[in-house]
Amino acid sequence: MTASDVPVLADGTPYKEYVLAFSWAVYLWATYLNYRQHVALRNPYIPPSMSKVIDQKESDKARAYGLDKSRFSFFTDAFEQLQNTAFIHWDILPLFWNWAGQVIIRAGYGLEYEITQSIVFVALMSISGMIFNLPFSIYRTFVIEQRHGFNKTTPKLFVMDMIKETTLSAVIGIPLIAAFLKIIDWAGQDFYFYVWVFMLVVQLVMILIFPTLIQPLFNTFTPLPEGSLRDKINALATRINFPLKKLFVIDGSKRSAHSNAYFYGFFGNKRIVLYDTLLEQSTEDEVCGVLAHELGHWQYNHVLHSLVIVQLHLFSLFYLFSVFVNHVPLYRSFGFMTQPPLIGFTLFQYVILPVETIIQFLMNMVSRRNEFQADAFAKGLGYAALLKSALIKLHVENKGTLNPDKWYSAWHYSHPPLVERLEAIGKTE
Ligand SMILES: [Zn+2]
Repeated sequence: MTASDVPVLADGTPYKEYVLAFSWAVYLWATYLNYRQHVALRNPYIPPSMSKVIDQKESDKARAYGLDKSRFSFFTDAFEQLQNTAFIHWDILPLFWNWAGQVIIRAGYGLEYEITQSIVFVALMSISGMIFNLPFSIYRTFVIEQRHGFNKTTPKLFVMDMIKETTLSAVIGIPLIAAFLKIIDWAGQDFYFYVWVFMLVVQLVMILIFPTLIQPLFNTFTPLPEGSLRDKINALATRINFPLKKLFVIDGSKRSAHSNAYFYGFFGNKRIVLYDTLLEQSTEDEVCGVLAHELGHWQYNHVLHSLVIVQLHLFSLFYLFSVFVNHVPLYRSFGFMTQPPLIGFTLFQYVILPVETIIQFLMNMVSRRNEFQADAFAKGLGYAALLKSALIKLHVENKGTLNPDKWYSAWHYSHPPLVERLEAIGKTE
């Protein structure tokens, strides 16, 4: 099937106007939700069920943090939207593409080296994106997070992180883009299947090497020392047949005071990672309560489920892209005189934005359902009270929003609001 066979892709479609209209619709919707959340954050009300566990002072501190983040996102969202609009409206993408062409010509390559030009294009786009984002990133880390007592990142660590991240994305990204474009070139119209298989393999490899090769570049993992906490966690794992092989503490406090815990690993080779900040903020039994929740995700196969959903999503995405890739009017509409597949993929992502926004919302819904399930699992193991007190502590320590707006949380939250979680745990079957 070629693009010209597809009736929906009419030649005269004003893609650029559609894309601009959609992106403004998505932006206005997000801003409206942000506004609703802002109003909710201004309200000092503490729900009766929470008044015993959180006092007004703690609640006000959390609201101040939420309001700061909310104000900042009004600003960053607006900036991003204007920048995006300018890029599309004034055909900046073709300028970058031509710039990449000049770079490779100066390096002695002709324009027939389209994959090389594509890689240079991505590099130029990424570098300019990084420069634009840098002030925001600095402000977020050294002003907002700092002001609310979370930031532990030093300027030196910030710069080192940036250098490492950039090097890493080049080392991984360049071969990835090259392979992606080679497959499209080699496989012809059915490339979507091969690209999908390739991306699946890449993801599995990344899942395998991320914790062992990549994360240690940024953090130190120390085995949890022998002692009562270790014994308790081992007992919990044995009780539910969780194949726990290693137990680490990560130095999350190096960058931030936010806390967390997670597990990873294939099949019979699981590792649990606890943030040093979590250990600092909770009692041993509360840590077990948090882990009982995490193990609920394992028991219900949530990781595998999300992996399958992501694969279905990617497959449909690549399939739809294969319908668009040779559709010349799409390229013309955005000011391109040629049809490089990488540009096609970029433009396709613009076109598909409204659908992606809704998919993200649905994924958040699934994720919240999974969180309730994992909570129920911990409760079934007898950790209801400990999980509740741990969730409250973590919520206070992380300055979470106590009273989020209903629409905002339904749209953006991957975890249910604290009040709803506590209510669900508290319910007797
Ligand atoms: Zn969870």
